[in-house]
Amino acid sequence: MKEVKQKVQNIICPMCGEKISIGIELNITRKGNTDIYFPHIHLHGDPLHALICYINSDLKMRNIGVIKSIEISRDSQTFSQLMKKWTNPY
Ligand SMILES: [Zn+2]
Repeated sequence: MKEVKQKVQNIICPMCGEKISIGIELNITRKGNTDIYFPHIHLHGDPLHALICYINSDLKMRNIGVIKSIEISRDSQTFSQLMKKWTNPY
């Protein structure tokens, strides 16, 4: 299987304590991110929450924050994209 994800690091979610393996899609890391820190979101948990991770160009995590307020558009395009992410699985 072709690798689609580059592992950044494992973290513990400050909200639920779950151990989470953070990884970035390779096609994003290859795009020559020029931002000093680029944001990455990881969704998980019950109730659903997200971690926003700021990752530098060396793929080192610099900061994380918890997002409790999440809204997902209820349209077919968003649903199909979510399913694509789910099955990708990255
Ligand atoms: Zn969590």
